[in-house]
Order: sequence, then structure tokens, then C-alpha cells
Amino acid sequence: MDDISLISRISDLYKRMSHAAMKAGRSPEEVRLIAVSKTVGIERIKEAIDAGLRVFGENRVQEARKKISNLKSQISDLKTEWHLIGHLQKNKAKYAVQLFDLIHTIDSVGLAEEVNNEAQKIGKIQRILVQIKLSDEVTKHGVTEDESMPLLEIIIKNLKNLKLEGIMTMPPYFEDPRRSKPFFAKLRELRDRAEKRGFHLPELSMGMSNDFEIAIKEGATMVRVGSAIFGERR
Ligand SMILES: *Cc1c(COP(=O)(O)O)cnc(C)c1O
Repeated sequence: MDDISLISRISDLYKRMSHAAMKAGRSPEEVRLIAVSKTVGIERIKEAIDAGLRVFGENRVQEARKKISNLKSQISDLKTEWHLIGHLQKNKAKYAVQLFDLIHTIDSVGLAEEVNNEAQKIGKIQRILVQIKLSDEVTKHGVTEDESMPLLEIIIKNLKNLKLEGIMTMPPYFEDPRRSKPFFAKLRELRDRAEKRGFHLPELSMGMSNDFEIAIKEGATMVRVGSAIFGERR
């Protein structure tokens, strides 16, 4: 794929995002694009940076580490933001804290504590989201709805090197993206309930290439889009 098609895919994506926001009576600025660059090589990521993208999502610590250091060595003032959107193992918390501006996938007290400790060691306030699992798929990570309130509370009350900004979910894959809608609505309702308890959770990370418009309609503030930008992953 050449530059032109990357640029046109990105501009098409922004148009669809704006349209979805406006149709829902929201401002397009309320929704940020996280360009999911997992499996994408750094030449293509550089093209995406040239095309104006600044926020990238990776699902593996190791892969992100290589790419980010490689990019930094080539671009001296790399003004990009990196988000971890994949499952994080406790033993990689240290690297995640060094690399990522926002971790979308905190899913246990133990992991939250580990990330907090590592952040404290390097004097960082780590921005995080808590991943919520709203389906009963065994392969998915995330805390259940019932576990979520206690986890949010522990993070806010005890873990001072974490800045909890919101929650994230990933519905099961459906051919028909409309079937994702109840999952997105549920995440928003959960956020609203948490806010009634006094937790401030502005960010809702939900929606991918096939269902981001529906997620935006349901209140997404961050959509994580990979294949609609970079093409199908092999
Ligand atoms: C891969 C991935 C995405 C992006 O998926 P696309 O369908 O390519 O847009 C979003 N979120 C998570 C957690 C992912 O792993």
C-alpha cells in the first residue's frame, strides 16, 4: 500500500468518526483515535506519523519496545503517544511503565499494585484504564462488572502513582457490528454508576475497525482502530 492510500484511509476514517459523533450530538473533538499498530512495521508507522497520526496502540510490550526505540533513534523529536491495549503480565509491568503513556488493560488488584510500584520507582504518575469484561468468553481478559467497583476503589484510594482515567472493553467479535452495541452501552452505564459514587472516569475506550461508529454513538472517547488504517493484518 502506498502513502496515498494510507492518507486517504486516515482521512476517510476521521470523516466517519466526525460523522458518527455529530449524529450522536457529540463534538468530534471528544473522540480520540488510537491507531493500532500491532504487527505493523516501523516504515509504515513512520508514514502514519507523516500523515498526522500521533497516538499509537500496541498489544505487546516487547514489540512496542523495539519499535519505539527504533523510531526514537530515527526521529529526534518523536512527538508520539503510546498506549498499551493488550494484556499485561505482572513481570512486564516495569517495561510497560517505561514505555507507555496510557495502559488500557489493568485487570486485577495485583497488576495495579505492580504497575503502581514500578511507577513509584521512577517517579512517574502512570495513566491507566481498567479493562472490563462484559461477555463470558474465557479467552478475554478484564474484570467482571461485579469486580470492577472494588478494583476502581482500591486504585483511587490506595495507589497514588496511578492516574485512573476511565474504563475499556472489547466485545466479542460479531460479523454484524450492531451486536456490539449492548456491550458499549453497558460500559457507559457502568461508568455512569461509578461516577455517581464519586469516581471521575472521563475516558471510555471502546470500538475497533468494524464497530467504532457504534461505539462513538454510545459514548466512546477513544477508539482503537488498526485494520481500517493499516489494512488487514496477516
Ligand atoms: C487489535 C486490536 C484492536 C484493533 O483491531 P482492528 O479490528 O484492527 O481495528 C483494538 N483493540 C484491541 C484490544 C486490539 O487487540
